[in-house]
Amino acid sequence: MKWNPRLEGMRAYEPGKTIGEVKKEFGLSRIVKLASNENPFGCSPEVKKFITQAGLETALYPDGYATELREALSDKLGVSPRQLLFGGGSDELIVILSRALLSESNNTVMPWPSFPQYRHNARIQGAEIREVPLRKDFSHDLDCMLKAIDENTSLVWLCTPNNPTGGIIPHEELEAFIRKVPEHVLVIVDNAYHEFVTDRAYGDPLNLVEEFPNVLVLRTFSKAYGLAAFRVGYAIGREEVITKLDPVRPPFNTNLLGQQAAALALADQAFIGSTTKQNESGKAQYARFAEKHGLNCPRSEANFVLMEVRGSADAAADELLKRGYIVRSGDKLGTPGYLRITVGTREDNEGLLAALEEVLAQKVSEA
Ligand SMILES: *Cc1c(COP(=O)(O)O)cnc(C)c1O
Repeated sequence: MKWNPRLEGMRAYEPGKTIGEVKKEFGLSRIVKLASNENPFGCSPEVKKFITQAGLETALYPDGYATELREALSDKLGVSPRQLLFGGGSDELIVILSRALLSESNNTVMPWPSFPQYRHNARIQGAEIREVPLRKDFSHDLDCMLKAIDENTSLVWLCTPNNPTGGIIPHEELEAFIRKVPEHVLVIVDNAYHEFVTDRAYGDPLNLVEEFPNVLVLRTFSKAYGLAAFRVGYAIGREEVITKLDPVRPPFNTNLLGQQAAALALADQAFIGSTTKQNESGKAQYARFAEKHGLNCPRSEANFVLMEVRGSADAAADELLKRGYIVRSGDKLGTPGYLRITVGTREDNEGLLAALEEVLAQKVSEA
């Protein structure tokens, strides 16, 4: 078969282990998954009610324009409906952007470690990938990123808060950076964890869309809104940019259930308030643990933390798995020696930290 040669050696995304797999493998009855930054509190009760009670029209295609959700979101954000583009999660928007802008004749600049889908899709497109390491404190090295940009750069990716490190780009720095980026470069600001941010220095990256024609913000209903299963993400940009991207979007890329659930979830900001409040208390549990054990756990503005384990993070993640906790090893995410742990409910955080304490003690006694 005549495969695209660029697929040579590429591997499919490896998701965290599923609850079912771990139950079976270790003969456990209760598994806590804190690996994919999902919302441990579920979603808005309004959405739950809708799912069980709505009489859904299954035979007809959904509204490809997602009109109702589009209007609700445009009201909420104070942007024109034509400034929005919906995707099957922001994952699909990354695919759409890559298809629309990347090719063998150009390059794309991105931080590392960061969200791996930027480089994955750039590779499929055959674009040159310029990865700029985060600074020692895990912040974006915007000066270096600027230097990596040239006349063949078409996309720059920024991730704030960054996955897997949790830090934000202060608004002032972000604005100063975009001011210096040439106008032929589209700057993507991935805000998957926007709703969780409490640091005031973050400002609101959306404001930059007004001032700069070459900025596009990505957000999602998968994280704080608790709708990861429904696959709804969105991009906000200048109307001219959205109009160029829209033909690349598959015609019915968001489904009926997802559109309606997202509109309901958007209307229930009380749920977001309660989620972010509990998320802050959860992060404090991890910060206390880190302090007690003298481990580095950088301040995260998202719903996950990076926890140092002093040694192999793969081994620590395996040990936690045996105890029923699924987390992500930083050895695979570009942050070796750290675990990325999604902040769960208070109880689950307690349970995980007790298990981690055991794992760390075991390692010390073995050493
Ligand atoms: C989770 C995540 C996404 C993708 O989320 P979707 O479920 O596809 O909307 C995008 N970017 C970052 C940084 C993420 O962590």
